[in-house]
Amino acid sequence: MVARVIPVEPFDLVVFGGTGDLARRKILPGLYRRFRDGQMPAEARVIGAARRAMETDSYRAFARDAIEEEVAPARRDPDSLGAFLDRLDHVAIDAEGDEGWAELAARMHPDRVRAFYFSVAPRLFGPLAERLHAHGVADAEARIVVEKPFGQDQASARQLNATLAAHFGESQIYRIDHYLGKETVQNLMAVRFANILFEPLWNAQFVDHVQITVAETVGVGGRGGYYDAAGAMRDMVQNHLMQLLCLIAMEPPHRFDPQAVRDEKLKVIRALDPVAPGDIVRGQYAAAGGMNGYLQDVADPDSRTESFVALKAHLSNWRWKGTPFYLRTGKRLRARSSEIAVTFREPPHSIFGEAERWAENVLIIRLQPNEGIKLRVMIKEPGPGGMRLVNVPLDMSFAEALGENGAEIPDAYERLIMDVIRGNQTLFMRGDEVEAAWAWIDPLIAAWEERGSSPQPYEAGSSGPEEAAILMHRDGRRWRGIEP
Ligand code: NAD
Repeated sequence: MVARVIPVEPFDLVVFGGTGDLARRKILPGLYRRFRDGQMPAEARVIGAARRAMETDSYRAFARDAIEEEVAPARRDPDSLGAFLDRLDHVAIDAEGDEGWAELAARMHPDRVRAFYFSVAPRLFGPLAERLHAHGVADAEARIVVEKPFGQDQASARQLNATLAAHFGESQIYRIDHYLGKETVQNLMAVRFANILFEPLWNAQFVDHVQITVAETVGVGGRGGYYDAAGAMRDMVQNHLMQLLCLIAMEPPHRFDPQAVRDEKLKVIRALDPVAPGDIVRGQYAAAGGMNGYLQDVADPDSRTESFVALKAHLSNWRWKGTPFYLRTGKRLRARSSEIAVTFREPPHSIFGEAERWAENVLIIRLQPNEGIKLRVMIKEPGPGGMRLVNVPLDMSFAEALGENGAEIPDAYERLIMDVIRGNQTLFMRGDEVEAAWAWIDPLIAAWEERGSSPQPYEAGSSGPEEAAILMHRDGRRWRGIEP
């Protein structure tokens, strides 16, 4: 099966923060891959804007280094790299100043899609939106792409929404959550809504519970300052984990279009019950195996910020009443692994007798690494020896399904940037969704602060604090292992 690549229309994309870490690791390499695959048209231009003035050649050299570092040798070649770099430009602009805007305006081509990627600190989102407008750089169709974090609570998110809304309509604002750009996440929707098999079982009557895990091996790294003020709840749960929960739990939208999908996601967030204090565990990694502890990494011996959260969520609606959703995320865990596991209930009666124990049917949606979907089913153990049962995975990995001739599966960022150019907001968060997510998160954080609670320590390289395991054991269930 050969994947089709449909080119997008010509565009001018301005990346504010064009010399930053995100531009270097994700945006520029991603755009190059789309260019090489034939999706970014030859007329398109990418303008890296940053505070410091730089020759265009130096900016192209920066981009070349970034691409050579991030893109596998088999996926790049000198000709296409040279042609891509010819499409790059640089302007010096201070988001809070008025220099450089006229030059930027002059570089924009009429009658092309204009997109502005705000890959800068969130305090600069407002000043950028205002100046894009004031200097006539953004036209009525222009799109802005806004990075996380989108506020640090409901009030600040609301404020940020209002600031952006003063200059751009909601249909022009693309709030990025790169988890939604992952191939498997979209496949989850295909599996649910393009097949008759799962949807009849997709409810509390047949689903015992859902586990959503986003485990990282990295510590806070160079982002210690930001992270220590945020913590895992704000940095991961409010956005990525809640978005995944929405896609699992939402009702079938009447069409796969931005308003319909986002309306359904919003209903899920609003149906979330408050989490009982006993149903949430915070953790903080401690030094182990030669790795620093969190307190050393952020250089604050008194920090009470959590680097791990596990919680049990309930939805008060007809479909899900009684089926818990267990969410877990953390840094410095034993493996890098993100997955959603939907565990179905046991059949009501065993015709094979008590001796034959079965494992449950589990649908495992694996986001990283080794993206793919597996369904664990019971079959007869092959061979002689009577009717013994065994639990095996039915593998629906699409990397294999696409085969040797298939185009590379695009990285989440590059897919989402192409969606911005296509004007498709389905995989971006709407303003009301973000505010509703904060409304669920804020009281949980406030309760910790009120109680002055400290996170439970867990060893770096482990599966998280013991209390997280107990959260499941109490209910007669277990977390799936965190496997690479
Ligand atoms: P960074 O600090 O590496 O880069 C910041 C960029 O902003 C630089 O290009 C700098 O020149 C530019 N800049 C700083 N002040 C400016 C000003 N006054 N006017 C114009 N430009 C200015 O940051 P980053 O890691 O690339 O992150 C960018 C954004 O993306 C942030 O909102 C961050 O939260 C978000 N984000 C980053 C990552 C990541 O992996 N790096 C992941 C998720 C979200």
